[in-house]
Amino acid sequence: MSRPVRFNVHPINADIKDNISLVDMPEGYSGEGFFTTKLSNAVGLARKNSLWPMPFATSCCGIEFMATMASHYDLARFGAERLGFSPRQCDLLMVMGTIAKKMGPIVKQVYLQMAEPRWVMAVGACASSGGIFDTYSVLQGIDQVVPVDVYVPGCPPRPEAILDGFMRIQDLVGKESIRRRNSEQYKNLLQSYGIQ
Ligand code: SF4
Repeated sequence: MSRPVRFNVHPINADIKDNISLVDMPEGYSGEGFFTTKLSNAVGLARKNSLWPMPFATSCCGIEFMATMASHYDLARFGAERLGFSPRQCDLLMVMGTIAKKMGPIVKQVYLQMAEPRWVMAVGACASSGGIFDTYSVLQGIDQVVPVDVYVPGCPPRPEAILDGFMRIQDLVGKESIRRRNSEQYKNLLQSYGIQ
């Protein structure tokens, strides 16, 4: 029997109106027959509910991701059922598993092939920090090669934890200013990774 957490409420027991079919309205002003909001809020609302993940799975954490995509947890409920296996079509890089140092440049290449705006999630201890593999051959965290937005702890993280990390990404995406990617701060961040 599944644990009664908010991510795996059975649809029959769920309050459909409050849990599934509605997205939060962005901040704004409403009156009789009109609603106004900031462009950033409207764009953020669309982006956060239509993320296209690019799974980069190298080991055991990838198996947890398979469970996350399957019917019980079902990432599709968050508007992200369309996984892409071409980086050019994706906006969320999910790195799951142990990344050897030889694999580091490949992770970076995949990141470079993604168009802006793009976000990165390090799923599990290995992707976040090298995990138990404190060895000469393993990258001690993918943030050594690409900037990371959300880290998901666990070895492996349960599907609930991956969903929680995904929802943190959605929060970031929804609140991000559409000007952020042109800011000096963002350019400096990319430059610190040798990315122009
Ligand atoms: S964090 Fe644990 S489960 Fe995930 S890839 Fe590393 S060793 Fe495997």
